[in-house]
Amino acid sequence: MTTATAAKSHTVKAPAVKAVQPLLIGGRWLDSVSGKTFATHNPATGEEICQVAEGDKADIDHAVAAARKAFEDGPWPKMAAAERGRLLNKLADAIEKHKEELAALESLDNGKPYRDAIAADLPLTIKAYRYYAGWADKNHGKTIPVEGDYFCYTRHEPVGVVGQIIPWNFPLLMQAWKWGPSLTTGCTVVLKPAEQTPLTALRVAALAQEVGIPDGVINVVPGFGPTAGAAITSHMDVDKVAFTGEGSTGQIIMEAAARSNMKRVSLELGGKSPNVVFADADLDAAVEGAYFGLFFNQGQCCCAGSRIFVEEKIHDAFVEKMIKKAKSRKVGDPFDLDTEQGPQVSQEQFDRIMSYIHLGQREGAKMLTGGNRVGNKGYFIEPTVFTGVTDEMRIAKEEIFGPVMSILPFKDTDEVIRRGNRTFYGLAAAVWTRDIKKAHRLANSLRAGTVWINCFDVFDAAAPFGGFKMSGIGRELGEYALELYTEVKTVYVNLAH
Ligand code: ADP
Repeated sequence: MTTATAAKSHTVKAPAVKAVQPLLIGGRWLDSVSGKTFATHNPATGEEICQVAEGDKADIDHAVAAARKAFEDGPWPKMAAAERGRLLNKLADAIEKHKEELAALESLDNGKPYRDAIAADLPLTIKAYRYYAGWADKNHGKTIPVEGDYFCYTRHEPVGVVGQIIPWNFPLLMQAWKWGPSLTTGCTVVLKPAEQTPLTALRVAALAQEVGIPDGVINVVPGFGPTAGAAITSHMDVDKVAFTGEGSTGQIIMEAAARSNMKRVSLELGGKSPNVVFADADLDAAVEGAYFGLFFNQGQCCCAGSRIFVEEKIHDAFVEKMIKKAKSRKVGDPFDLDTEQGPQVSQEQFDRIMSYIHLGQREGAKMLTGGNRVGNKGYFIEPTVFTGVTDEMRIAKEEIFGPVMSILPFKDTDEVIRRGNRTFYGLAAAVWTRDIKKAHRLANSLRAGTVWINCFDVFDAAAPFGGFKMSGIGRELGEYALELYTEVKTVYVNLAH
């Protein structure tokens, strides 16, 4: 693989990729047991990038056995906690050293603009590993003043072998959100990257090997959801499954976990996040924030601000500015440094988004810009804005996961809180206002895991992220994520003579 370099033409060179990529189990790079491979595609052209070993149940069985061995017999959970932290920091260093290469690989496999990958995905990924490296020797228990002559304390022990299933929208970052907290606590992992974007997960696994993370601690098995994914969720020797993806898949995973060995489950699922703009907001900042909050990453964000409630008084001015911005958004080659929007990740996602665009038109919403494919290869879609959207329309209720904005007018605060909460989701919300009381009233009333006030999509490894209601179970990032990967053990010591 060659390192990507910025050329004079203002484009970055796509990285060269080996024709066949093996999977990683117990420190060995292997073909799948079946010998099968599958293609991963470049969403900008639809062409095959390379073949990847296709893991299935037999490979997951081997990977879980390797992870179990590393957990029970290996040094990882037993080593000095600070040493685990040191190795995670070394992994962060290695990712930093290879950040251009990784950003280019992410861009190639996912379609996101290189400039976003290098400016957002990579720094956030590196910071997540560093943040959790720091926790390795700080996740300690308590001493508890119990009744009687006993010394009572708790230990925070690693939950064990963890299965992790991640999506394609932020492959490097989702890997970091899963590996950071699980590795720092001493767990061992079997990761299944999304079938659309397996390449960066494999590359980071190779870096983890290079920096000395012991064999079997990390295992990466690319493959498909109903085969490799399902083998993880129903495995009797996986202690916990962590999943990010669609709500309907989350339900299948919870059921499989319950029916097998009651493994612990954490889920980060979809959203239909309300973004509320009051008339007293800084209008330009609100337009910019709402534009970014929906169109960033081709609209493929679980926390996208996809229901934009705008106070009636400023509705038309807001729409006018938004249309202007949407029309001028530069859609095209992800490796061109001027590109703001790349292709959707796959034909399947492209078709799904286009069907929502047609549905919005049939439902009677007004499409003021967009609605078409861009170019004749790859999966590019014009930034699309609907106004006159009502709460009952499916485009206002269902997750579209694409560059399709819905703007809904509102009259007063009580009304917008009620309407904002009228959803099964609860991942994120935002409010734009200069009135601090109103801002906090909304922050307290909106049932969502994150509320942004006069900002959108602010993330920090130290601050938790996750969903209320059907947007998930548990919190990733921050100290809270450590709870996902630890069991609390209570120890009583008899001190009586
Ligand atoms: P999306 O529609 O965004 O691809 P999914 O929830 O289907 O979202 O995919 C997210 C991840 O879940 C991927 O790694 C995918 O392979 C995996 N997955 C899909 N179906 C299942 C399943 N039945 N069991 C386990 N994992 C699954």
